[in-house]
Amino acid sequence: MERLLLRNVDKENSHTIEVYIKGGGYQALKKALKEMSPEDIIEEVKESGLRGRGGAGFPTGLKWEFAAADVKEPKFFVCNADEGEPCTFKDRVIIEKDPHALIEGMLIGAYATGCRYGYIYLRGEYPIGRKILERAIAEAYEKGFLGENILGTEFSFDLYVHSGAGAYICGEETALIDSLEGRRGEPRIKPPFPVNAGYLWQPTVVNNVETLANIPLIIERGGKWYSQIGSPDCPGPKLYAVSGKVKRPGVYELPMGTPLREIIYEHAGGIVGDRKLKAVFPGGASSCVLTPEEIDVPMDFPSLAKAGTMLGSGAVMVLDETDCIVKAALRLIEFFRHESCGKCVPCREGTDWLVRIVRRIEEGQGTEDDLDVILSVSETMENSFCGLGMAAHNPVASTVKKFREEFLKHIKLGRCPFRSGQ
Ligand code: NAD
Ligand code: SF4
Repeated sequence: MERLLLRNVDKENSHTIEVYIKGGGYQALKKALKEMSPEDIIEEVKESGLRGRGGAGFPTGLKWEFAAADVKEPKFFVCNADEGEPCTFKDRVIIEKDPHALIEGMLIGAYATGCRYGYIYLRGEYPIGRKILERAIAEAYEKGFLGENILGTEFSFDLYVHSGAGAYICGEETALIDSLEGRRGEPRIKPPFPVNAGYLWQPTVVNNVETLANIPLIIERGGKWYSQIGSPDCPGPKLYAVSGKVKRPGVYELPMGTPLREIIYEHAGGIVGDRKLKAVFPGGASSCVLTPEEIDVPMDFPSLAKAGTMLGSGAVMVLDETDCIVKAALRLIEFFRHESCGKCVPCREGTDWLVRIVRRIEEGQGTEDDLDVILSVSETMENSFCGLGMAAHNPVASTVKKFREEFLKHIKLGRCPFRSGQ
């Protein structure tokens, strides 16, 4: 497949405005501002079928339509660049290698929805990205793509970078907005959705980095062209971040819906040492595990939901036969316990209980009853306040269900069967 999202990343100095413009950059913005109305743009994005790449897959055109329909002013356009899910590193490639694609996508989105000010909420652990984005923004101001009366039109837009301080929960859009307002980031109740009541309770569009990088392509080549790439009900190119026991870990751009088997065995080169595949988390740390028999699934939102898991951010984590599934589950739930904001009981207590029980099993001190307690705690966590708690139990509950024998082995042996020297 022709590289679309990653078309610029291998060029020397791809992060500079000169290289971006030389490759056709900012032409989509010119077309949008000079030849298209905000309604035309929203229609084009709706026709493309683009769905949000942050993890939830909400239709981008619809989100923009909701925001455009709200008459309160000022409106804000926020890029969620707080990618913090373990093993998720796809947005980083765009931020560091093609920042102008992100800025151009934001500009087009802001014009379409009537937003006057924009923020890129950047993961605190991406200091290089911050420097690159700040430089790119300064370049865009110099060239007249940001600021007052952009390209001689009535459209004005100012853009700022705001770095997070390391809390994973601030990737949840309402916690992100709290943080942007200078407060401790905690999720807000939804609805109202940010498109109507977001930053400073004003209409606010929040879009992921990869989502926005698609926008110049859609405006340049048309929504219809875009809708023909990948899965029919979930089209477009997709960035998959593959990590773990594969020969060639990295970020791969492939059509949405590429089978998981192809991603692991063709693009990522197969399993290290040609060992046997044991398990895959197909959509980041909060997705349910898949077994080797389940990897023919197309990697898109509906197919993975049908398979009982989720695409999420598209982070594929691969485990081989030498990995301990109990330890993997423990590492993931430890992360969520650490990152739980503590606002609601099911998540605050549930993540702590799960860590204690899974650790006990991993250390060989567990009982068979513990497995039922894990599933019961997981069920309760479904009632958490936000997506973090609702999904945090997935890696644990799904591994208990699909790899029960391995949990039982730890319990019966009184130790981890994978620990060397035992
Ligand atoms: P969500 O379904 O609540 O919302 C998705 C988006 O659609 C939001 O922007 C929301 O405001 C909007 N939306 C939904 N319904 C709407 C409506 N009726 N009107 C207007 N707007 C509406 O999901 P979420 O909690 O924002 O995100 C969950 C996802 O985030 C998970 O699937 C997970 O994969 C992903 N995630 C990603 C990372 C990462 O690092 N990329 C980290 C954690 C979680
Ligand atoms: Fe906070 Fe977890 Fe509750 Fe979300 S689910 S509000 S992260 S405690």
